[in-house]
Amino acid sequence: MELKLVNVSKVYKGKKKSEDVRAVDNFNLSINKKEFVVFVGPSGCGKSTTLRMIAGLEDISEGELYINGELMNKVEPKYRNVAMVFQNYALYPHMTAYQNMAFGLKNMHIPKDEIDSRIMKAVKILDIEHLLKRKPRAMSGGERQRVALGRAIVRTPQLFLLDEPLSNLDAKLRAQMRVEITKLYEQLDTPFIYVTHDQVEAMTMGTIIVVMKKGVVQQIDTPENLYDFPRNRFVAGFIGTPQMNFYETEMKKNEKNIEITLPNENILSIPLTQLRNIKKEYLDGELHHVILGIRPEHIHIVDQQTKGAFCVETSLCENLGSETLVYADFNLGSDLNIRESKSSLVIKKYDRTLYNPKDKIYVFFDANKIHLFTSDEKEESIYEEKN
Ligand code: ADP
Ligand code: MG
Repeated sequence: MELKLVNVSKVYKGKKKSEDVRAVDNFNLSINKKEFVVFVGPSGCGKSTTLRMIAGLEDISEGELYINGELMNKVEPKYRNVAMVFQNYALYPHMTAYQNMAFGLKNMHIPKDEIDSRIMKAVKILDIEHLLKRKPRAMSGGERQRVALGRAIVRTPQLFLLDEPLSNLDAKLRAQMRVEITKLYEQLDTPFIYVTHDQVEAMTMGTIIVVMKKGVVQQIDTPENLYDFPRNRFVAGFIGTPQMNFYETEMKKNEKNIEITLPNENILSIPLTQLRNIKKEYLDGELHHVILGIRPEHIHIVDQQTKGAFCVETSLCENLGSETLVYADFNLGSDLNIRESKSSLVIKKYDRTLYNPKDKIYVFFDANKIHLFTSDEKEESIYEEKN
């Protein structure tokens, strides 16, 4: 199975040209083996539109879509051999689970024995044999979604397309179905494309994640690389909870160190050898405005004596059971208890020591885990691309 999108764009025409909506802009993607591809991004960023163009439910305005090397732009949905599962299962209410799954196959004139054997195979995988004679209204949300998945499986498509299939389910069921869809993917020999706005679903299910913003692809990468090497501030902030801490800073290269000014005149000095490769233009010894990013789990609470530790003032602790979030600020003695000021920080730690408001604590930034972005509107990483 090969899927290729080349500069695919979608423009929804308005009454006037100025009212046109460019919902997807120059989307490029190429997969040539079984992958669990996730499209993730905030609501309205063009995920569903892209998926629907692949399914053939939406015309492609510009660019080309290839499946197994064949141009698909004008091919009708039913000849694309893809199966789509939506958020609102869309089962026929007057049919049993069996009839719902059989319906599409009957229309394709597939012999009854074959239909039967495909359905029995699918219900075993999904563990829904007991639901075969039930109608949707007598099923829970999770059961209906499983039947909807079964209906997609029995078509033996060459590609599965899933558009936020779990967003109608409660948190517990969602977590369970997440695991089951991953298992399903592992048992089948078919690539999946899965749309979600939930970065946890993306990170836990995807083998390749496409992060989108306002119709534009920001980064296509493995979950590990998105977390470790985000290409810009948007991706860095979108992946991971709580969000990465960001600071507007100035950086300068000295002899062997990079010096970065943090809020409240704190200076972070990092030996160049400890950093990933920074683009040369930032190492010319001049002052550069950059945005520093560090994840809450990469700030450590340390002793006052620790070399390179900064003093910060706590405002609030949240004990989440397995971890504790500490909210603090670089500005000491400020009366304001602002959690989102330009000098605030969130620290994630794995012990339960709590602090009182206005306690002074010392923190250390893990130098290997520091991210640096340009201060212009692109907010791109200033590290050399990782190969
Ligand atoms: P997502 O699935 O990421 O939430 P969509 O792909 O549904 O986003 O929508 C992307 C953009 O296209 C949004 O700004 C949306 O308002 C716009 N859009 C979607 N469908 C239409 C349509 N039929 N006509 C005009 N604009 C649309
Ligand atoms: Mg959508």
